[in-house]
Amino acid sequence: MSGESKASFVVVGGGIAGVTCVETLVQLNPDDPITLITASELIKAVTNLQRVTRTLESFDVEEKPCSEFASLFPNVKIIQSSVLEVDSENKHVVLADSQVIPYEKLCICTGARPKLIATDNPYVLGIRDTESVKVFQRKLQHARRVMVVGNGGIATELVYEIEGCEVIWAIKDDSISSTFFDPGAAHFFLTSLESDKPKQKVPVKRTKYTADSESKADSSVVKSMPGGALGPDWSIGLDMKGVTQTCKPHHVHVEYKCEIHKILTPEEFKDSGKAEEKIEDSHQVKDSWPVYVLLTNGKIFGCDFVVSATGVTPNTEPFQGKAKFNIGDDGGILVDDHMRTNLPHIYAAGDVCTASWEYAQQWFQMRLWSQARQMGFYAAKCMQADREGEEIPQDFCFELFAHVTKFFGYKVVLLGKYNGQGLGKNYEILLRLTKGEEFVKVVLHDNRMYGAILIGDTDLEETFENLILNQMDLSIYGEDLLNPNIDIEDYFD
Ligand code: FAD
Repeated sequence: MSGESKASFVVVGGGIAGVTCVETLVQLNPDDPITLITASELIKAVTNLQRVTRTLESFDVEEKPCSEFASLFPNVKIIQSSVLEVDSENKHVVLADSQVIPYEKLCICTGARPKLIATDNPYVLGIRDTESVKVFQRKLQHARRVMVVGNGGIATELVYEIEGCEVIWAIKDDSISSTFFDPGAAHFFLTSLESDKPKQKVPVKRTKYTADSESKADSSVVKSMPGGALGPDWSIGLDMKGVTQTCKPHHVHVEYKCEIHKILTPEEFKDSGKAEEKIEDSHQVKDSWPVYVLLTNGKIFGCDFVVSATGVTPNTEPFQGKAKFNIGDDGGILVDDHMRTNLPHIYAAGDVCTASWEYAQQWFQMRLWSQARQMGFYAAKCMQADREGEEIPQDFCFELFAHVTKFFGYKVVLLGKYNGQGLGKNYEILLRLTKGEEFVKVVLHDNRMYGAILIGDTDLEETFENLILNQMDLSIYGEDLLNPNIDIEDYFD
């Protein structure tokens, strides 16, 4: 542990971005004092980091009590508290318990919180951290029907994982999981929703800890602060069973092209004089639900509770007082190509920030754990370089959007402009599909590969990454590019 108030580097936030930033700073400065301030009782550390390709990496996330993390690094001090204010002129942050912590370089990694469709309704839940998952599980145990609102990664995983409970999935688009997939890929997954899940679950490598409810930190404030967002395997191994044991494992009804118009109490529903929508094959003969949802398509559904998975808002409140940070349209703190905010000596990384540099052709920002890790790592390198007065090039990871994850039990690799993002209608698509096994989609623009979606064990990620990065003219290969009888790797060796 270092002296009280001489921290040279201060990092705020114990999620993937903040913890990676601290770990990298420790490697660069094994002797200098580094302070991590986090509102959460547990920190999230990346483990089993594996480089899949040059830009693609997979990893697990381990939750650790702050004390255990601090014991690994003698020069790191962890303060479990929340930052209420940044004073950039006097170079210090003010904590909830009135402590004033000076910094030489500060990195803000305070993540984001779910955008809830209703903030004061006990029947509407958001999912962000371990605590919110526990609340969800408790409610699900007694539930016969839930409504999931949203069409991104969280909604997609939930809908697949929930068993023994009817799910109404309300999405604003005309195909599922639109954050990641076009209608073709969505269709590939729809069959997974209709079939049984494989019995054998992937073993969970993450060690789970329970936050100590007797924590001595300024608990009134800390409890109201968000914990770190969940890690890559958050839904695996969790009991997500409702009360209806006779119900087939998945019973999902998708309502397309709609949003929530109003949440109604049973009384309001009764007074509305409207009829509840019938769901095909529903086993529920309940004439009263604790909550009703009126959708913008005019339909009303009753359910036990609603999960709001409609995106996130960066946690910037403490940074909008004295310090005047430039904030992007999506609510994130704007950072330049070296993760610097507009205020001197202050950096930001992960979900809280908005990348405002001119992006490489095949990269864009998405609030994902892969980018939180990359940004946390790179921010530490930039803080160190600025301190030493060195110029460093931007990290290579920002050359290509690359993300590997699992959806509906399939490995999913997303590369570059995998949905033709920013290309308008000016692109071609090549597809290869083996039902229930794999789905390969390539986005071509000017005969060059701009992006790809690889679902299943395709083994194509490295070759396609190279083709996207080197922008080779692929016109002579035509559709052979996806011919399963041609070993594409040999082609380009
Ligand atoms: P966080 O993990 O949110 O950490 C923020 C930290 O800051 C926390 O420790 C918090 O306590 C602390 N903090 C906040 N305010 C303060 C303050 N004022 N003072 C001190 N500390 C503060 N990503 C994917 O790539 N693929 C997925 O499939 C996927 N699924 C997801 C599923 C769920 C349910 C959720 C919630 C997220 C998912 N994500 C997914 C997103 C991913 O988890 C995040 O992008 C990533 O974890 C962000 O990391 P972070 O470090 O920026 O922020």
